[in-house]
Amino acid sequence: MIERFYNIFADDIGIDLGTANTLVYVKGQGVVITEPSVVAINERTGRVVAIGNDAKQMIGRTPTHISIIRPLVDGVISNFEVTEEMLAYFIRRASQLPNNSRKFFRPQVLVGVPSGITNVETRAVRDAARNAGARRVHIIEEPMSAAIGIRLPVQDPVGSIVVDIGGGTTDIAVISLGGIVLSRNLKVAGNHLNDDIVTYVRDEFKILLGDKTAEEVKIAVGAVVKQPEPLDATIRGRDLISGLPKEVVITDSDIKEAIGASVDTLVDAVKEVLEATPPEVISDIMHKGLVLTGGGALLRGMDNLLSQELKIPVNIADDPLTAVVRGTGVVLEDLDRYWDVLINEGDDQASR
Ligand code: ADP
Ligand code: MG
Repeated sequence: MIERFYNIFADDIGIDLGTANTLVYVKGQGVVITEPSVVAINERTGRVVAIGNDAKQMIGRTPTHISIIRPLVDGVISNFEVTEEMLAYFIRRASQLPNNSRKFFRPQVLVGVPSGITNVETRAVRDAARNAGARRVHIIEEPMSAAIGIRLPVQDPVGSIVVDIGGGTTDIAVISLGGIVLSRNLKVAGNHLNDDIVTYVRDEFKILLGDKTAEEVKIAVGAVVKQPEPLDATIRGRDLISGLPKEVVITDSDIKEAIGASVDTLVDAVKEVLEATPPEVISDIMHKGLVLTGGGALLRGMDNLLSQELKIPVNIADDPLTAVVRGTGVVLEDLDRYWDVLINEGDDQASR
């Protein structure tokens, strides 16, 4: 009974539905959930057995009847039902709703999506959030949300550029006057770099690494420019010849070489966006610089490399992993002011 009184005022919530991580902001409270976008399913019963951190811990350790699903691939929903279950779980947890809560108590939800996703994909996110218990669903493009989250003056007549390097995609967006002037979305991001590391270690050391280990070593010693002090990490994988476990020492220069080609692709993509940016906006960007957000912003030397290659100042956002969800928070606190930056329901039909 008491619980119901609390729920009458189910607060608005903002969600960064990322390929790698889902973050939830509750209006008036701040960021309350940061968990991996992972779900464990029991294939025998079709039931969800774990979501988020609990599910991630099971990766690589599951019996055959349990499968681990990442319901979002490259920033878009690849498994609709599982995304819906995951969203429902996070929405319920964030708004402290019981499982059988009635419509009246449902929160208004703002969800971030990658820039340039199709109408169909946007509608899928909208439907998933609604089925998951949202009373009303608003959609915002992630780089716009990130820009708002780091307090760029997105509605002013001044251009900004945000590069959000996530797990599945890198979003590059030029923003001015409350809109995205141009954007590009590429699949070279964190997961791709992990794959590069697996391939490199297999070819160079004849050792098979798990994805999780590849990610850990990337975070521990990964760099895109030469480091002043060499970094190394000892990692464990399976020797491809003997089939037995084996340890190997990996250095920052190994990682630099492993991910080099992908990093070049990423730099080239940003270059192409800058080349297509109108001159007035370029002049703003030369002055204010580019901002890096998303987990990939933390890759050692990414800011220096981009700055060198693009000849513009590059800054890493404070707490780059939470920029998008913080943006949803800023918007929710003043929905009227930001109404025009949202993708509203009617816009889904427009020629986007
Ligand atoms: P998404 O929005 O797609 O969920 P995130 O912005 O949460 O992605 O970033 C997750 C990605 O960032 C992962 O690929 C992860 O490996 C990478 N990442 C996180 N921390 C670091 C770090 N310190 N160095 C390099 N990459 C990192
Ligand atoms: Mg993201």
